[in-house]
Amino acid sequence: ATAAGAAEWSGTGVTADGHRVKVLANVGAPTDARAAAEAGAEGVGLFRTEFCYLDADDEPTIEQQRAAYAAVLEPFRGKPVIVRTLDAGADKPLAFLDPEVEPNPALGVRGVRVAFDRTGVLDRQLEAIAGAAADSGAEVSVMAPMVATAEEAAWFAERVRAAGIARAGVMIEVPAAALSAREVLEAVDFVSVGTNDLAQYTFAADRQLGAVAKLNDPWQPALLRLIGLVGEAAKATGKPAGVCGEAAADPLLARVLTGLGVTSLSMNAASVRAVGAGLATVTLADCERVAQAAVAAPTAQAARTAAKES
Ligand code: PEP
Ligand code: MG
Repeated sequence: ATAAGAAEWSGTGVTADGHRVKVLANVGAPTDARAAAEAGAEGVGLFRTEFCYLDADDEPTIEQQRAAYAAVLEPFRGKPVIVRTLDAGADKPLAFLDPEVEPNPALGVRGVRVAFDRTGVLDRQLEAIAGAAADSGAEVSVMAPMVATAEEAAWFAERVRAAGIARAGVMIEVPAAALSAREVLEAVDFVSVGTNDLAQYTFAADRQLGAVAKLNDPWQPALLRLIGLVGEAAKATGKPAGVCGEAAADPLLARVLTGLGVTSLSMNAASVRAVGAGLATVTLADCERVAQAAVAAPTAQAARTAAKES
């Protein structure tokens, strides 16, 4: 069934002049994965694996993880799926890790930082992911959350390859990683921008706090400029750079992101068709023009208006 108001689309993300932009889904459980497949997503750009660990007093075994991941991967046999390793801490506290009380959890030991001291947790998860990939036949890549430097990216890629997984990437959700996108991309096979956290850290504004929500607007020109740096690094290295934060779900913003050099967009299943159909109505040159207008705007609201009118 077509989502209300969304035009039909071919099922392949491509602009009117043939520029390819994969339209992928974000999933966090088997039900989401089925909804994403039914919506026509070309694959999964962000599989959040925390569901497997939430409410667990102990770390799930490799076998338990393998079965849980395989259930999510199952509808995507032969299709690309990017599995994100555990993103614990801050807005996703996990009991089994016995997190230390930190004065600023969003700036603490979270995301990939947890894995530096607990390499076993990461290695067991990677083993489970490799097993689930084999079980499901999905084309699995793995990426790490909350990477800040190219050195961290290289460390992660080495562990992924040691686990026998072919493709390793990292999320760009810390401004430092966006500013060194070129070096980060040189260390891995791909990156994916998490606009929810990238906005939070760029504006020093808690993503869960309504009082600062205006700063976390994905149309903020400063955020778009950082994404533009990632797009330029993707072009320079010839490697893919996706966006998997909420920003990718807005069809107008999807044009801006495409114009900034982003090569895939990953979103909630409900937005897949509208974003795919929207891309098919514009050329890459249109996207580049809209992106330039948005990036040059003085405010988020002005960026939105400029994109609509350009
Ligand atoms: C993000 O930060 O934009 C993201 C996609 O990851 P999460 O929302 O799971 O932190
Ligand atoms: Mg994030």
